[in-house]
Amino acid sequence: MARYRGSVCRLCRRENLKLFLKGDRCYSDKCAFERRPYPPGQHGQRRGGKYSDYRLQLREKQKVKRIYGVLETQFRGYYRRAERQKGITGTNLLLLLERRLDNVVYRMGFASSRNQARQLVRHNHFLVNGKKVNIPSYLVKPGDMVEVKEKSRNVPPIVEAMETVVRRGIPNWIEVEKEKFRGTFKALPSREDLTMPIQEQLIVELYSK
Ligand code: SF4
Repeated sequence: MARYRGSVCRLCRRENLKLFLKGDRCYSDKCAFERRPYPPGQHGQRRGGKYSDYRLQLREKQKVKRIYGVLETQFRGYYRRAERQKGITGTNLLLLLERRLDNVVYRMGFASSRNQARQLVRHNHFLVNGKKVNIPSYLVKPGDMVEVKEKSRNVPPIVEAMETVVRRGIPNWIEVEKEKFRGTFKALPSREDLTMPIQEQLIVELYSK
């Protein structure tokens, strides 16, 4: 499947927000956004001016896609599905993204970024409810248990991620049994639990045009 292969730090600078796409580096003084907190490119420091409604909506959509590492077609698919569900479309959209297996693996602290989680899932390191699942977009349900396969418990990126997860913490809708290398997706988070500064209503406005 197609993936963005450019510099991910550039994406944070473009969105004017730390998106935490690089694991440990994001918490160090090597973070590119901390060093150069202005848009990338030759004219980055000169860009600015008033944002049109469209530009605000577009930037918000790009930001969410980049946080969760989802490309346009798949993102639009999540939006359509969110629209068909009961409740508030924007919240439904975020909850669908939160249920992705790569995101859940990252949230549980078995990977230091969503990007790394996606790779580890693809490489068959995880079981969901005891069954092998290697699809990063697999949607985890409340009550599902995600486990690191026994053979994969010494894989360096997983060990390192588990050692450093304290820095960002485990969210309250997830329970992790570290010594058993497993975690449970206890329930769907509420909108207030998702603390990244996202204005999902802008995405709804963009797609409703
Ligand atoms: Fe973004 Fe992390 Fe790069 Fe900093 S180090 S710019 S937070 S991806």
